[in-house]
Amino acid sequence: MGAPGGSPPGEVRARERALGVVLLALGGTISVPGGARGARLSGAEITAAVPGLAELGVPLDVRDVHAVPSGSLTFAQVLDVVAVAARAVADGTDGVVVTQGTDTLEETAFLADLVWPHEKPLVLTGAMRQPATAGADGPANVLAAVRVALAREARGAGALVVFNDEVHAARWVRKTHSTSTATFASPNTGPLGHVVEGRVRMLLAPPRHEPLSAVCDRERLAAARVALHVVTLDDDGAQLQGLERTHRGLVVAGFGVGHVPDVLAPRLGALTEHMPVVLTSRTGSGSVLRHTYGAPGSETDLRRRGLIDGAFLDPYKARVLLRLLVAAGAGRKEIAEAFALRG
Ligand code: ASP
Repeated sequence: MGAPGGSPPGEVRARERALGVVLLALGGTISVPGGARGARLSGAEITAAVPGLAELGVPLDVRDVHAVPSGSLTFAQVLDVVAVAARAVADGTDGVVVTQGTDTLEETAFLADLVWPHEKPLVLTGAMRQPATAGADGPANVLAAVRVALAREARGAGALVVFNDEVHAARWVRKTHSTSTATFASPNTGPLGHVVEGRVRMLLAPPRHEPLSAVCDRERLAAARVALHVVTLDDDGAQLQGLERTHRGLVVAGFGVGHVPDVLAPRLGALTEHMPVVLTSRTGSGSVLRHTYGAPGSETDLRRRGLIDGAFLDPYKARVLLRLLVAAGAGRKEIAEAFALRG
């Protein structure tokens, strides 16, 4: 362990061989100056305000990309960012960090993870408190994200969300609180690792799969509309009327282990004739079941009617995967296999 305040050994090694870190800035709270100031902070302004970052001695290549709230990001924009990051790694950069808003971070990180081709991780972070507020968390998150991007220990883990000194797998991470700086959590697994005294400690290694092909064609992505229907008490499915004319896929966020009202089951079954329909749970953690309950609207009934098992994927992540597959022109069998592997 290094002396208090000094660099841990792993970090010194990284510095000796550092080619630099590319930081791609996308907007979000981390870039919102607050008060009367209107213009967003640039990536250079964000990194300039991070105590200890310059002391790492790592060259930073900071690029401003899409300065928008994360709720306005599109699949195409995110895939473009991933392509820029992947090129940077292919060109030899030591690590890549993306800063963005937290609202859609659990979705963008998973989208990036599905197509990320490298051993070096793609690290995403942001902030819950604006830079000018007391206890702003952006600087600590950026510093931790850069450390993780450089860490050998974090290699092979795909896209990672680094927040509040925790390292989360894109596959599992959720935004669980609207305002807390500890909002990012992985309810099914816990964090993969922690940043402790500046040192990256990875405790778990997530399984990795072959990257999916990144469809960057905007028209194909736009045409691959996938709906998300959250099932609610006494839901008669009126919202689903005509869906086959507007959408090419559907994710159902069912009750508990993957149940819907009995009246909804035939409607969902009929939709499987037109599009892939994936069954997930609206609970926020845990898996849907496959064959435990048998009543109309149960998981067994829905699978018999052709719904695809989303397993542990939450509805938002299931929608990301399904849209990418639909955009790539995957058929039902391929889609079911992809969910069996990644769900
Ligand atoms: N609305 C912001 C965004 O996602 C929230 C944040 O950054 O935390 O862009």
